[in-house]
Amino acid sequence: MSDCIFCKIAAGEIPSNKLYEDDELIAFHDIYPKAPVHFLIVPKKHIESLLVAGAEDEALLGRIMLLVPKLAREQGLGAGFKTLVHTGKAGGQEVFHLHVHVMGQPQ
Ligand code: 5GP
Ligand code: ZN
Repeated sequence: MSDCIFCKIAAGEIPSNKLYEDDELIAFHDIYPKAPVHFLIVPKKHIESLLVAGAEDEALLGRIMLLVPKLAREQGLGAGFKTLVHTGKAGGQEVFHLHVHVMGQPQ
């Protein structure tokens, strides 16, 4: 998706404040944080939203959810945090490349 901002971040074409990367996933701090710690976990594969994720994405989605607590702990959120996935325009989604928000206050 040549016009997708998160594809461009995943490809390294647009800089981000990155906290994690492997062959399938990237995590970076939200450019407009809504909490003291606010980062996004993004699959490198362009999936528009949960509405179009399929059975072939099962393992990838599982990897995202297990990366959430690992990175949250590293960011000082071991006591707890919020996760959020906006889905579709009606669900508040603004960037149409699936991502999980992780937000919290370090204790
Ligand atoms: P959503 O699609 O879940 O509503 O939110 C998209 C999120 O991506 C927003 O919180 C917004 O601040 C963040 N965002 C949008 N563009 C960029 C960008 O270029 N870099 C980073 N790091 N975050 C972005
Ligand atoms: Zn994309």
